[in-house]
Amino acid sequence: MSKIICVLYDDPVTGCPDRYARGDLPNIDRYPDGPTLPTPKGIDFEPGTLLGSVSGERGLRKYLEANGHEFVVTSSKDGADSVLDRELHDAEIVVSQPFWPAYMTEERIAKAPKLKLIVTAGIGSDHTDLKAAVDHDITVAEVTCCNSNSVAEHVVMMALALVRNYLPSYQWVLKGGWNIADCVARSYDLEGMNVGTVAAGRIGLRVLRLLKPFDLKLHYMDRHRLPEALEKELGLTYHASLKSLSSVCDVVTLNCPLHPETENMVNAQSLKDFKRGAYLINTARGKLCDTDAVAAALESGRLAGYAGDVWYPQPAPADHVWRSMPHHGMTPHISGTSLSAQTRYAAGTREILECYFENRPIRDEYLIVQGGKLAGVGAHSYSVSEASKAAS
Ligand code: NDP
Repeated sequence: MSKIICVLYDDPVTGCPDRYARGDLPNIDRYPDGPTLPTPKGIDFEPGTLLGSVSGERGLRKYLEANGHEFVVTSSKDGADSVLDRELHDAEIVVSQPFWPAYMTEERIAKAPKLKLIVTAGIGSDHTDLKAAVDHDITVAEVTCCNSNSVAEHVVMMALALVRNYLPSYQWVLKGGWNIADCVARSYDLEGMNVGTVAAGRIGLRVLRLLKPFDLKLHYMDRHRLPEALEKELGLTYHASLKSLSSVCDVVTLNCPLHPETENMVNAQSLKDFKRGAYLINTARGKLCDTDAVAAALESGRLAGYAGDVWYPQPAPADHVWRSMPHHGMTPHISGTSLSAQTRYAAGTREILECYFENRPIRDEYLIVQGGKLAGVGAHSYSVSEASKAAS
């Protein structure tokens, strides 16, 4: 028998819905340009329901208990008195998620001698100290691709919301006003703008594809160039540095992983290279940006708007400056956890657990660490020294 701890965000304050806004989800078999969706042997949940909050239990209880395992579900993850810390000592598996991250630090991993598997239900395992996972021979896996398109859609939504001044205009409606001039004094068209992504991986490339029909000038910066044919198809301009990209772009979107090379890449110095009145969108990780430098750039007008859904730490404290800075369109970390995405990563988590318990290989594209070293997709995206820093 194994003990599995699953850390999930809290239920809605009004309780889980007994009726959902929509009756079904579109049927998708493959990710764009990518592998198949998760293929577990079975699922015990209704697609399109809340699986990421505590009552949803990631749809795993029936399966795990039927196989004789102990299953602990909690949202209590921070501080020595947290349920996570209390239960960790004999846990074999921790299932966490980036939206409500169980920071699996070296200290926590050291306190869990039976820990064998950490599953990120989502993408981005920077909340786990990968060096500690390597040192303790713990497998780390994530559900690659499950929400890449969800995040890309969020980026497009935020670009339009910022450029067109949607959120303040909506507020005038709520206030009972008809203040057209107040609304449009900061409202522009996206058409014709220069829009650039920092990183053109799964999410960044999808953002570029989704934006193509808006008749924009598209730019990207990455460690590697995309194939020439793709650059031509999308009309992309490549930049070797953030400075080069930000000096020409009206909208910049960050879509790279967090590691020492990218941490704090947007700071007081690099913001000087941005065009006056640029919009910055960050759905990748909060630590890519210097918190106070972003707030100051919005105050000074260097940035005309900032939006995203990633913060540090998470949950963000009530007095986090990004809650009150001007011209922002922040959300909590939600872009990758739409009901559509939850269905996919719940199925992916189930697939990973089935493989683990049945001694079948976990898909390479899901693996971050295995056998005491970086593995699968993790061997490409991370280095062990990077990870320990990011998780702290
Ligand atoms: P991918 O691994 O597909 O793409 C990441 C890209 O970033 C790669 O092309 C990589 O290049 C590039 N890159 C790495 N370092 C740099 C650098 N220093 N400068 C420029 N480019 C760099 O990841 P995804 O697109 O799937 O996800 C990106 C990030 O988005 C995740 O790491 C995660 O932090 C975040 N995310 C956020 C979610 C949310 O809910 N808000 C959900 C999912 C992901 P190379 O190929 O050379 O390594």
